[in-house]
Amino acid sequence: MNLDLKSKPHTLISIALFGIFLTACSGRAAKSNGSDNVLTKVNIADSTQVHAKPADNKTILARREVPVLCYHQIRNNIASDSKRAHDDIISPDKFKDHIKMLADSGYHSILPPQLFNYLVYGAKLPQKPIMITFDDTDEDQFTTGAATLKKYGFKGVYFIMTVSIGRKGRINYMTKAQIKQLSDEGNTIASHTYDHKNFAQFNDDDWTKQIDEPTKKLEEITGKKVEYFAFPYGVFKSSALHKLKEHGFKAAFILSTARDENFPLFTVRRIIDPGRYTARNLYYSINKSFNKTKS
Ligand SMILES: [Zn+2]
Repeated sequence: MNLDLKSKPHTLISIALFGIFLTACSGRAAKSNGSDNVLTKVNIADSTQVHAKPADNKTILARREVPVLCYHQIRNNIASDSKRAHDDIISPDKFKDHIKMLADSGYHSILPPQLFNYLVYGAKLPQKPIMITFDDTDEDQFTTGAATLKKYGFKGVYFIMTVSIGRKGRINYMTKAQIKQLSDEGNTIASHTYDHKNFAQFNDDDWTKQIDEPTKKLEEITGKKVEYFAFPYGVFKSSALHKLKEHGFKAAFILSTARDENFPLFTVRRIIDPGRYTARNLYYSINKSFNKTKS
């Protein structure tokens, strides 16, 4: 399997679990996007209990978007990198500089369960929330990415392409043990298909190969449920979004295109932090793309 997929943008999100529990009365069998007409018990970190009704799509779309950043390769450019690949490559020094800027600017990382509870139940988020996500399983996301996030008290979301786990070569990929460690340390491990097949081109068999089997593999590695998904290349097909919920996902992440009005939880926006950005560029980009009440 050719894994030279790195030059294309993908989707991801990370959310920080902030001690919010959610016990859905009807389990995971809900329809479409959290708009099920059931009362749900939400335990907030301070153990306050509220009974919240899931928000409808219009309410979800009207909530202020949380900035979500997407990273791929954290390494220095080499001569053979195509110009197009540059958006997906950020040097370790720049990455560290950008993450430091986020910390210095007062951002707090959140993880997908927090984002879900905020969007669906209006749960509170920390001040200046942000989600930091990584796509495609590259080992530098562990060695440089996770190590840098840890330094600033941030958690991340790792969208894993399961075919690549443990592979070594021109690009090295994370091992099972590294993925398990990320999970054990409180980061979110999420799905990015088996081998990066375009979601818009899924056939019936792909729901097993690209969705169910990777979920099972990641759940075996982490011992935790896998409930979040990022579309390869950020590309989705509206008519198939309902199936993600049927296959156990609570939310899915695109890139910076418009959300689907009928499935806002399954088209959460992210922006790429390209290697050419300065920390200041990133700061302005976050505010430009996300600081609106509505996208
Ligand atoms: Zn990807």
